[in-house]
Amino acid sequence: MARLNPFAIAQQQLDEAAERLGLDAATHELLRWPMREYRFTIPVRMDNGETRIFQGYRVQYNDARGPTKGGLRWHPEETIDTVRALAAWMTWKTAVVDIPLGGGKGGVTCNPKEMSDGEKERLARAYIRAVGRELGVHRDVPAPDVYTTPQIMAWMMDEYEKLVGHSHPGMITGKPLPVGGSQGRGDATARGSVYCVREAGKVLDIDLAKTTYVIQGFGNAGQFAATLHPEILGGGTLIAASDSRGGVMNKDGMDPAALVRHKLETGSVLKFPGSEPISNEDLLELECDVLYPSALEGVITAKNAGDIKAKISCELANGPTTPEADKILFEKGVYVIPDFLANAGGVTVSYFEQVQNTYNYYWTLQDVYQQLDRKMTEAFGAVHEMSKRARAHNRLVAYMVAVTRVAEACKIRGWV
Ligand code: NAD
Repeated sequence: MARLNPFAIAQQQLDEAAERLGLDAATHELLRWPMREYRFTIPVRMDNGETRIFQGYRVQYNDARGPTKGGLRWHPEETIDTVRALAAWMTWKTAVVDIPLGGGKGGVTCNPKEMSDGEKERLARAYIRAVGRELGVHRDVPAPDVYTTPQIMAWMMDEYEKLVGHSHPGMITGKPLPVGGSQGRGDATARGSVYCVREAGKVLDIDLAKTTYVIQGFGNAGQFAATLHPEILGGGTLIAASDSRGGVMNKDGMDPAALVRHKLETGSVLKFPGSEPISNEDLLELECDVLYPSALEGVITAKNAGDIKAKISCELANGPTTPEADKILFEKGVYVIPDFLANAGGVTVSYFEQVQNTYNYYWTLQDVYQQLDRKMTEAFGAVHEMSKRARAHNRLVAYMVAVTRVAEACKIRGWV
């Protein structure tokens, strides 16, 4: 099957929102394309003495609301269209949480799993030498994404500071704490998503302390959601969880912290004591209050959307629901918290990191949680308000909120 072009999907989603909003033709066209993009070759000396040439990208999608911001993905299948799509989604994500930033994204086509630490460090530094002069706290601020780490961010910051000749930690976020990272970055994505569930529970009148919940994709984001759900909501029962090898279920509940330890020790959720096995497909269709799709894109489709029984689907993963499934879930009354709202906690704390770097004063963990809670609650509220006026599924509604804000900034600047 031919792979869908992610940028074509991003443009289609925008088109739908633009139509609903009655956006003028020039603004619509401006928002369909990246404002700037850089493509470059990166020569790197490998450990065996050979020089390899990597393809690098940085897309600055829209900076009407502030400097562009978005992660760097190192992946063998990285293409310019993936980076463009992710940069567009960052634009809507920063707008929906109302932080004064635009959207960007970058990447390198490479396979970090086959590279030594020395090779990764040379690639990180060479990436900055190639495109660093287009970055900076007032221009464009990268962060980690798939297969890039806090250590890679530290190497990049160090190379950038050599280039500009002074300290400039805010040029990149997701750094380790000793070199200007923020408290609370590790679990920010999952924490933000549970704050959204809390707000959805109020709207839907669900007793959150008694909720049952299911995690599809027990990785970084999914594990934090599993432990934070009962911590933030004052209770809740984890009844099923899965990873790429399969799932486990116990209707009486599983201890999330014990399941995290089990996954760490054995490499999988499978064979968790007291549980029974369940397939990833069946897990999605379990009767529960909250489903957290936290693995991959395209898992809830026209085929299974009719069988989803969760009251709330909180999308930690990017793109888990197809456009056809969105419509089915909406008709069925499943309350979807769309990805770019549900998982915006990560970029929000990245923004806090940048703020702390700029005034060189660092917040406590409690400060970060409090500010994150405020941002996520306001973002959820804005989407919910719009949903009262627009009869549409929540993803389209969230797009309408975000596109309105970016379009307004473009207009005020006199661009369109
Ligand atoms: P991860 O690699 O740590 O975890 C992914 C998990 O999904 C793994 O446990 C893997 O075994 C499981 N998985 C893979 N294929 C599966 C399948 N077919 N069925 C069920 N489980 C499967 O990645 P992550 O950082 O937790 O990211 C997960 C999703 O969340 C991605 O879509 C990512 O873009 C999104 N996200 C993560 C963050 C973050 O801060 N980590 C921020 C924003 C968005």
